[in-house]
Amino acid sequence: MQQFPCPFCGLRDEREFHFAAEAGKIRPDTTQPVNADAWSNYRFMQRNTKGRTREIWMHLPCAELFALERDSVTMAVLGSQPLRRDAE
Ligand SMILES: [Zn+2]
Repeated sequence: MQQFPCPFCGLRDEREFHFAAEAGKIRPDTTQPVNADAWSNYRFMQRNTKGRTREIWMHLPCAELFALERDSVTMAVLGSQPLRRDAE
C-alpha cells in the first residue's frame, strides 16, 4: 500500500486521499460565453503526463487540498505542498 504525504498530517495511507485535478489547468473565463468544447476539455481531458507530474489531491480526514508531485511511471512520490497561503 502506498503512502502519500499530507502537508498537514504527514504520511498517510493512500486510501485517505482523493484525486482532485491536474495542477496548472486553466479554467475558461466564465465572464464571457464559453463554448461546449472548451468547457468539456477543461472538465474531462487530462494531459496524462508520463514521468514527473503535479496534481491536486485532497486528504479526506483533514479536508485540505494540496499539490502532490509524483512520477507517473515509477509511482514514486516526490513531494507535496499546501495550497493555502497561510499554511507556509
Ligand atoms: Zn491531512
